[in-house]
Amino acid sequence: VSWTSADGWKDRRIEKYGPLQLDPATAVLHYAQEIFEGLKAYKHADGSIWTFRPDQNAARFARSAHRLALPALSVDDFIGSLAALVRTDISWVPDGEDSSLYLRPFMFASEAFLGVRPALEVEYLVIASPVGPYFAGGVRPVSIYVSEQYHRAGPPGGTGDAKFGGNYAASLLPQLQAQKDGFDQVCFLDAATSTYLEELGGMNVFLVMDDGTLHTPELGSILEGITRTSVLRLAADRGYDVVERRIPLAEVASGLESGKIKEFFACGTAAVVTPVGRLAGATFDHEINGGEPGELTMAIRQELTDIQYGRAEDRHGWMRRLA
Ligand code: PMP
Repeated sequence: VSWTSADGWKDRRIEKYGPLQLDPATAVLHYAQEIFEGLKAYKHADGSIWTFRPDQNAARFARSAHRLALPALSVDDFIGSLAALVRTDISWVPDGEDSSLYLRPFMFASEAFLGVRPALEVEYLVIASPVGPYFAGGVRPVSIYVSEQYHRAGPPGGTGDAKFGGNYAASLLPQLQAQKDGFDQVCFLDAATSTYLEELGGMNVFLVMDDGTLHTPELGSILEGITRTSVLRLAADRGYDVVERRIPLAEVASGLESGKIKEFFACGTAAVVTPVGRLAGATFDHEINGGEPGELTMAIRQELTDIQYGRAEDRHGWMRRLA
């Protein structure tokens, strides 16, 4: 669907997948005025197709749009676009354990104009692709390097809490460096002081303490993950005290050393809940839980995927039927 400042949103359409033709002066190519979302469509045993908390993605998309000076898209249009795409051919949604149809809604400045001001022409699109399990051959704990050199986004007031491509562009070099050094993922610290744990390039992080509490970095300059919000809820349901706060890296390093931190996991739509088996930085390198997936980590992972695939009761009303 296309937007112009004069006419608003119009021309809703579904087209065969193919290349876009863009003017070389298209604003997004120069000033990166764009945002996106990521969610999945799951096939349940009876053949019905569902997605997980799309209202939350719609709300986050609206916040991202506001921050990037892009036009608002209604919750109904956002969710309606997902349903319309999935219904064109539900056979795109794969069968099988932990397989799904990945949905990628995005919006970008399509006006051909070389001037730094919000574009007067914008496109909103959704593309989709079947995806298999994130971990082929079973869940495997990942290793993470905490970068004190690079940041993925800005301090509060920057774009860290928007799902904006620039944050991801900034994460590419540190991610490459971490991989060269033998790690799976890079974890970023807060950009203002390089002191507090923030998140990975595409996942939020959690610590499970030996006193039965669960801690995660507070909101502000991180992306408010829908998986993060859901994990907070499921952990509270299990009787865990959940704490959102600023978590100094120094405290994490010493907590791993002393055994106060029992489990460490990352979470996001793509990999659901992922155990972390090793965490390292410039001055420390620790194995976590003997390099094995933690008990709470795996229990929450199981519970969340059971809800998403319709194997467990959706007691919080998180699932939305698409087809
Ligand atoms: N942080 C970042 C930077 C991300 O890109 C993502 C993936 N969207 C997440 C966290 C996790 O968010 P969600 O649970 O909504 O996928």
